Amino acid sequence: MAMNGKSTPHIVIIGAGFGGLNAALKLIHHPVRITIIDRTNHHTFQPLLYQVATAGLSPGEIASPIRWIFRGRHNIEVVLGEVQDFDLDRRVVKIADREVPYDYLIVAAGASHAYFGHDEWEPLAPGLKTLEDAVEIRRRVLLAFELAERRAASGGGQVQLNFVVVGGGPTGVELAGTLSGIARRALADEFNSIDPKQTRTILLEGGPRVLPAYPEDLSRSAEQQLRELGVEVHTSAMVTGIEPAAVIMSQTRVPAAVIIWAAGVAASPLGKKLGAPTDRSGRVFVNPDLSIPGHDHVFVIGDLASLKQKNGQPVPGLAPAAIQEGKATARNILRDLEGKPRKDFHYLDKGSLATIGRAAAVGEFGKVHISGFLAWLAWLSVHIFFLIGFRNRIIVLIQWAWSYFTYEQGAQLITGDQTLPSWPELTREEEQSSNKEIPIDHARAG
Ligand SMILES: Cc1cc2nc3c(=O)[nH]c(=O)nc-3n(C[C@H](O)[C@H](O)[C@H](O)COP(=O)(O)OP(=O)(O)OC[C@H]3O[C@@H](n4cnc5c(N)ncnc54)[C@H](O)[C@@H]3O)c2cc1C
Repeated sequence: MAMNGKSTPHIVIIGAGFGGLNAALKLIHHPVRITIIDRTNHHTFQPLLYQVATAGLSPGEIASPIRWIFRGRHNIEVVLGEVQDFDLDRRVVKIADREVPYDYLIVAAGASHAYFGHDEWEPLAPGLKTLEDAVEIRRRVLLAFELAERRAASGGGQVQLNFVVVGGGPTGVELAGTLSGIARRALADEFNSIDPKQTRTILLEGGPRVLPAYPEDLSRSAEQQLRELGVEVHTSAMVTGIEPAAVIMSQTRVPAAVIIWAAGVAASPLGKKLGAPTDRSGRVFVNPDLSIPGHDHVFVIGDLASLKQKNGQPVPGLAPAAIQEGKATARNILRDLEGKPRKDFHYLDKGSLATIGRAAAVGEFGKVHISGFLAWLAWLSVHIFFLIGFRNRIIVLIQWAWSYFTYEQGAQLITGDQTLPSWPELTREEEQSSNKEIPIDHARAG
């Protein structure tokens, strides 16, 4: 097949996340030319980001350089760059200093956090999507303990440290459960002037239950497991504002040393640039074969795509869905090249697992629901299996085994500057005492 005047078809993939990477891995063994463009030089295993944010793992253990993944392969070009726009009529992708022509385009740029029109909250309440986010959250958490220790050691008394996690989906739940574990066990003996066990980890969920995408019995179990780990769980707790040292819920002000945002997701802005219809969170409505209306050589996959399953439910924004879509798109491109008709994409739901903290998790496999230690073991095995790179798998396995038996967190590093946005206000606030029960406004999520 000859396109663009060349004999080998050129497939451009934007994003080396779960979707883009798996499309490339499937195509690489065939007589095609691939260009993979990503704004970072690595693939990030996002399900383990919370481990970096909570000092359990180091960034290099959950990420792999894209060039390294494709080492020795000569039909792929890896480009470090941020895609800014497209010209679908001319079939080119635009990055800062270059236009990249394509025969087939796969857009797999994923999603990011959304602040429901309040982008000014972001510096005060970072979300967790990239390695940089994880390292920043880790910095704030560890710095809060250090500043509290320094203040107490110089006679200023112990500041009440509240860690507030906004959003009770899988990310909020795993962050809250693990943060509480750090304060209560991992750091318990490391300070002389403060007692880290006095730290409160508060999870605020706007809806009536945590893990709303899971069946009700698993939500209840997750909430119970969170409480056992020491997390204060508040459901139907609508956040209406974020301030430098506080989370606001209507009339209630929750003082906070560290605020983490895990409440909203928005698709990559690249979706809108394709000119195809999008849903409210910016995901592109795709055809059943994952191409976009009017451009059958352009595919959108993963978190950026919006597609309904046969049962009317949307394909979920999960790693397995992105992986399956990446592989299915690669297969359809190869079918095109062989002159065969394309096949529609069907998501195969193999079940889902959410971790909550040490030895705590829930899992749903059709009618089989599991929770606690068994679910945690299943979660651990699946995540080690899917990590990219044998070295990472071995290291993560050893790190987890070590911290399971010793309660130690292996990556307690503060990097970057030593200012905590909440600190000046918090220490002022603390004089009026912030260690009261938080009265929760039970207004339902809108
Ligand atoms: C904290 C967290 C925990 C999660 N836990 C789980 C879990 O336990 N289980 C599960 O199944 N799923 C989990 N997910 C969801 C899962 O990670 C996503 O569904 C999956 O990553 C989607 O894959 P993707 O390929 O669509 O996008 P991503 O994996 O997000 O990849 C997008 C890629 O595109 C690149 N990119 C974006 N914009 C541009 C641009 N303009 N130019 C160039 N490159 C660009 C990015 O750098 C990135 O590499 C979690 C997500 C997060 C954030």
